[in-house]
Amino acid sequence: MSRTSFGILGAVAVTAAAFAYSALAAPSADPGDQPYPPFKIGEGLYYIGSTDYTSYLIVTKAGLIVIDGGDAETGHQVVGNIRTLGFDPTQVKVLVNTHQHFDHAAGLAEIKRAAPGAKFYASAADGAIIAAGGRGDPFLKGERFYYEPVKPDVTLKDRQQVSLGGWTLTAHITPGHTPGCTTWTFPVTVAGKVRQALDHCSSSVLPGYRLGSTETYPGQTADYERSFATWKALPCEVFLGSHGQFFDMKAKKARLDAGQADAFVDPAGCKAFYVKAEAAFRAELKRQSP
Ligand SMILES: [Zn+2]
Repeated sequence: MSRTSFGILGAVAVTAAAFAYSALAAPSADPGDQPYPPFKIGEGLYYIGSTDYTSYLIVTKAGLIVIDGGDAETGHQVVGNIRTLGFDPTQVKVLVNTHQHFDHAAGLAEIKRAAPGAKFYASAADGAIIAAGGRGDPFLKGERFYYEPVKPDVTLKDRQQVSLGGWTLTAHITPGHTPGCTTWTFPVTVAGKVRQALDHCSSSVLPGYRLGSTETYPGQTADYERSFATWKALPCEVFLGSHGQFFDMKAKKARLDAGQADAFVDPAGCKAFYVKAEAAFRAELKRQSP
């Protein structure tokens, strides 16, 4: 995509003009939800998202776990990708989410339809917005940002663990990008070694977010500060995120295809990402509160 379209909610820095333009962006640009072939990242861990809006499948002996649904279009692809990999979507028992923006939450309803028995876990702040189909977001307002609501079955606290069939995922509430943004960590075996995976929620400061004395939502600046401290302290070997562009998904997939079994093991890339993201946050804070 042009950064103006698929990066709209993922890009660290686009101008306000670009943001406004994105609504009118050429339809040929990849919106981030184009189909992408599902693939294996590690033992029991699969990529099932689209070209940029990510979704992950974890296969346990007690059923399936899905992280994120992409946008409404991606939601259909996610269900299809589970079948393509040879698994049964009705066996999704746990559904979790990074954050309530439409490009990660609008597809959840389709997954719930395919797996009515799935329990949906979400943070209090983002869960309330997903239950309202995107309404209530402090910044993204308008029909094009709204979607089919899904009511959370379980409200997550910070560092709450979600377990199924021998897997344990830990929810880290890392707000700022959204009031209840959730970063997930879990161990996974890649190329014969147990590694710590991290699925980054988002640290992007969207063009138009207000930081400092006037904020997009009260406490947002302090939330970003606390979240950067959390992110920098979390183990991150298998670097994943809610957008493929955060961790160079396509380049890593190419290396995986070329025979590098641990292409997604990238602790240095994870560290570098957070250094860059924090610098972008601090530059924007300084610009708004000189
Ligand atoms: Zn977002």
